[in-house]
Amino acid sequence: VVWVRIAEGITGFLVEPDRPGLERTRMTGKLSKRAVDNAELVFADCFVPADCRLPVTGFSNVAEILFKTRHHVAWAALGEAIACYEAALTYAREREQFGRPIASFQLVQSKLVRMATEITKAQLLSIQLGRLLDAGKATPGMTAMAKANNSEITREATRLAREILGGNGILHEHGVMRHLVDIESSYTFEGTHDINTLIAGREITGLSAFT
Ligand SMILES: Cc1cc2nc3c(=O)[nH]c(=O)nc-3n(C[C@H](O)[C@H](O)[C@H](O)COP(=O)(O)OP(=O)(O)OC[C@H]3O[C@@H](n4cnc5c(N)ncnc54)[C@H](O)[C@@H]3O)c2cc1C
Repeated sequence: VVWVRIAEGITGFLVEPDRPGLERTRMTGKLSKRAVDNAELVFADCFVPADCRLPVTGFSNVAEILFKTRHHVAWAALGEAIACYEAALTYAREREQFGRPIASFQLVQSKLVRMATEITKAQLLSIQLGRLLDAGKATPGMTAMAKANNSEITREATRLAREILGGNGILHEHGVMRHLVDIESSYTFEGTHDINTLIAGREITGLSAFT
């Protein structure tokens, strides 16, 4: 599905991958979400017939999709934060320095508590959003808020977990570093953190700060 701006506004087209004039180039060199393939699409004299056009006009159709997918991304980000918290807690209990498990040090406990607190707050936000979605009462600003919040707290949680794991934190086998780089994508796709903040801000104030 390709979303384009035409004279009437934004609309979608179903474009077959082998359509003449469409060039697809696999993007290489990604250091985040490496399991997901992304491609650069170039349309050069690519004729797409009208019967491939989706019966929609206007950005509200795209926004309706993002309204739902942002809820998914919020939960996915939260899962990454929990995975890092659990890895850090397990490691901190086992790893000994100065003759004691590092989990017994106040500064390490402070980091674990910070992670647990933010995860708990994000879980409550997300479950309440799910309830409101089920009841048909959720708004775009709410899903934008959850997506922005959860990707932000996960960004911090992955870094704190990496820190608790010390030098071992950069090793692939502990998983934390993968989440640390993957969250950079989640922080950006389905609307960047900035854009989701602006969506929530517009809903709260009734004023758009996009331009
Ligand atoms: C792994 C991955 C998968 C993706 N998959 C898809 C996909 O399947 N389909 C798809 O369409 N896209 C996809 N994207 C693209 C993604 O949606 C965009 O990267 C994202 O929307 C940001 O757009 P941009 O990269 O053009 O950044 P830009 O729009 O250039 O933004 C750059 C910076 O400027 C800030 N900025 C821009 N405008 C404003 C403003 N008005 N006020 C304040 N700050 C602003 C942004 O927040 C950001 O920090 C994917 C991206 C990644 C990383």
